[in-house]
Amino acid sequence: MGASDDLYQQVILDHNRRPRNFRPMATPTHVCPGRNPLCGDHVNIYLEVRGERIEDVSFEGSGCAISKASSSMMTEAVKGKTVAEARQLFSEFRAMLMGELDTGRVPHGLGKLTIFKGVREYSSRIKCAGLAWHALVGALDSQKQISTE
Ligand code: ZN
Repeated sequence: MGASDDLYQQVILDHNRRPRNFRPMATPTHVCPGRNPLCGDHVNIYLEVRGERIEDVSFEGSGCAISKASSSMMTEAVKGKTVAEARQLFSEFRAMLMGELDTGRVPHGLGKLTIFKGVREYSSRIKCAGLAWHALVGALDSQKQISTE
């Protein structure tokens, strides 16, 4: 285990112990349930979008440690951002998971989300890490629900 593995474990544990923005929202403008049947992860994403900006974002759900930590970190990452910025972040995050974005060489806005780049070596885990992001985009696109299958 290298230093980045330790950091990965610590961040995942921290977000599982204290998930950020883990609550239902009374009057969301957008909502989308997402499921990952392969692992059994469920997540509900709630958004409050005003104009072009994501004023608030929260989630509820149950699932594995990676899906929960990724949901928690997704909400932190997109809160206060514009819809266009959030979509850009989604495409960068997805490209990183698919091994199509070399985060060490190409400029990107992922910040600490790069902690998840190690999951690309485990194809089943890519869906766990990506679930909340697919549900985010599903909510923005007014989809009734999304599934990673
Ligand atoms: Zn999972």
